[in-house]
Amino acid sequence: MQRIKADMHIHSTYSDGRSSPREILLTALYRDLGVVSITDHNTFKGALAARRIMRDLPESPLVVIGNEVRTEYGDILVYCYEPVDVPYRLDLLIDYAHENNCLVVPAHPFDRLRLGIGDVVFDYRDWDALEIWNASADPRANKRAIEAAKLLGLPGLANSDAHIPEYIGAAYTVIEVEDLNVESVFKAIRDGRVYPHKGYPSFKAFFKKLSWSITRRLYGRKKTGEKEDLDIY
Ligand SMILES: [Zn+2]
Repeated sequence: MQRIKADMHIHSTYSDGRSSPREILLTALYRDLGVVSITDHNTFKGALAARRIMRDLPESPLVVIGNEVRTEYGDILVYCYEPVDVPYRLDLLIDYAHENNCLVVPAHPFDRLRLGIGDVVFDYRDWDALEIWNASADPRANKRAIEAAKLLGLPGLANSDAHIPEYIGAAYTVIEVEDLNVESVFKAIRDGRVYPHKGYPSFKAFFKKLSWSITRRLYGRKKTGEKEDLDIY
């Protein structure tokens, strides 16, 4: 068994993040993360680009293919071996994801501003884990998520939900894996061999994120990052 740090909720230029997949991998490497999942909104493309880069990057963190799917109730993290065509209706999504050996994890469930699913988390029993700590969510929402995971007997993940590189690894989960591959990561999560590290970003990073969000809203989405990566591959 080995213990590795995992940040499994990161946004890239393939949705509303500032960093390209390559920048995310390099930052994660620098922060000593062994596993990352790029979970762009409603697309696996960012994660797929990261996986291609991973193959050529020495010492690269392991990339888990992920997607933050917006269902009718809110956001759900889906982790898969390969991209699948995810349904957006929650009940269909859970079944379909499990049929394809994917993991289904509600993101920041009690942060309504960030579109968590709220009490709907109690309506389903077949989550693989719960995001009990999100470095971008407010403390009360995280506290409720911790309580919900206890009530439901679910493993808890801590993630950064990074939209700028300074947030990557602000919160992470230590995962106890048999080998450093996606199968072992999934098995460790399902078996609850996960130890959330409940961190928040520094004030400096917080204000950078604030100014990034405002700039993005004022000037629209910056497309250069996505183009850079597409140009390379
Ligand atoms: Zn997110």
